[in-house]
Amino acid sequence: ADKSRDIVVMAEVAEETEYVPHHPKKIALVLSAMRHFAASLVEEGWRVQYYRLDDQEPVSSICGALVRAAAETSVDRVVATEPGEWRLRAALDELPLILEILEDDRFIATHKDFEAWADGRKELRMEWFYRDMRRKTGLLMEGDKPVGDQWNFDQENRKKPPKSVDARPPLWFETDRITDEVLALVEQRFQENFGRVKPFWFAVTRPQALDALAHFVEFNLPSFGDYQDAMLRDEPFLWHSVLSIYMNIGLLGPLEVARAAEQAWVSGFAPLNAVEGFIRQIIGWREYVRGIYFREGATYPLRNALKHTRNLPNAYWGGETKMECIRQVVAQTRDEAYAHHIQRLMVTGNFALLAGIDPAQVHAWYLSVYADAFEWVESPNTIGMSQFADGGIVGSKPYVSSGNYIDRMSNYCGACAYSVKQKTGETACPFNTLYWHFLDRHRTRFEKNPRMVNMYRTWDRMDLDRRETIIEDGQGLLNRLDTGKVI
Ligand code: FAD
Ligand code: SF4
Repeated sequence: ADKSRDIVVMAEVAEETEYVPHHPKKIALVLSAMRHFAASLVEEGWRVQYYRLDDQEPVSSICGALVRAAAETSVDRVVATEPGEWRLRAALDELPLILEILEDDRFIATHKDFEAWADGRKELRMEWFYRDMRRKTGLLMEGDKPVGDQWNFDQENRKKPPKSVDARPPLWFETDRITDEVLALVEQRFQENFGRVKPFWFAVTRPQALDALAHFVEFNLPSFGDYQDAMLRDEPFLWHSVLSIYMNIGLLGPLEVARAAEQAWVSGFAPLNAVEGFIRQIIGWREYVRGIYFREGATYPLRNALKHTRNLPNAYWGGETKMECIRQVVAQTRDEAYAHHIQRLMVTGNFALLAGIDPAQVHAWYLSVYADAFEWVESPNTIGMSQFADGGIVGSKPYVSSGNYIDRMSNYCGACAYSVKQKTGETACPFNTLYWHFLDRHRTRFEKNPRMVNMYRTWDRMDLDRRETIIEDGQGLLNRLDTGKVI
């Protein structure tokens, strides 16, 4: 772009803030980061046409803002970065102006790279893509070999939660005048939305986000691998980086984050299992899910391979529940617009899948409640990895488990009204009965899946009476959900 000729158009618009009921912290993050970015552009000498949500005559959509800006400045050509949602891409294509779309260069793999990798493969497994990304970036490589002679150190990760937590909470940032104005606007306009806007502590500028990255590398990266899957009551963050929110809105780039982690290993500060595990999430999973979203097309979020139709329980929006794990994850989601991966996958995701919840409702929930949620990354994780609604593109088997897994990786069960040890009866953990109910009702689809054969063997070895009781109890729970009763 050219400062003497071009105008930067930025717009806060109702269409973007309202297409799902976003968490107020997420809206505040995006608006405050936008206003800070606009201010820094002006300081650097750019002409910025900025439309605010609280303008006297606000514009209602991004395209509306572009059309208005073009009329106000007699410009007829728009250069835009490719949006992260098909919805917005389709809207831009309708724009009555000359449009040039540039590739989003905040990612490591271009669409071409992903297509070149995916074309002709029978299965699009992340692990193979990840190895290509290691080769492409040279991260943790010695020539064409992975350092430590191993691509993946996952078996050294996933330790049980420790007794005491020495992780530092993510860096808190004081609000300034710009953020305070945004918070007032969000409090007034989005008070009905699920979630608390205050205390607001996210980074909203690039220097702040860089400080958040340095803080994570110094204090939490060394133990990141060990406790990646651990969950503890009233400990929302543990050793996680909480950097997705900054990468997804462009305050940090994925490569600089991965290189900062690699440097910690090179200097002997963090062990290889932690650094490899962290880098894999970013250059592997994050890039891979984006590739899947754009490859699968606009209808991907509508998929429902298992034909699940049940409504999302009210407990996901903070309604009463006796299940401590769901209560914990939903409460921290309400307060922080954050839950870590295993909480999303093995608590709320696992329960929704076992209970047969309509994946479109599950998708809308995840898209609304997390500060890092944008469709390119949220939908492959929800529709694909978590709900198996894409029929097995992202995952080779559904991520389902009984209460045992949650008990092993957390301290939730000790404080729960249900008993994780009990397999049947009114006080049995709902995951225990629904797990078998799920496998039984989807038997035709899954019994031949090589990764699930053992599950069906265990089921078939149980007494018929016991199996019948489990199915009855599971059905009883589903009936309670259908009639809006608390479970
Ligand atoms: P860390 O545990 O510190 O991981 C480091 C980084 O790796 C993250 O910042 C993130 O950028 C990346 N990462 C890790 N796992 C994934 C993954 N599966 N997909 C993409 N990136 C990954 N992530 C989002 O960024 N936005 C979403 O809307 C989102 N929705 C999800 C929905 C479901 C149902 C599930 C199971 C996962 C979802 N994830 C999403 C992935 C993951 O849960 C979050 O990226 C992670 O919890 C963010 O917290 P963190 O920054 O502390 O991550
Ligand atoms: Fe969750 Fe079951 Fe444990 Fe309760 S007993 S916290 S419902 S896994």
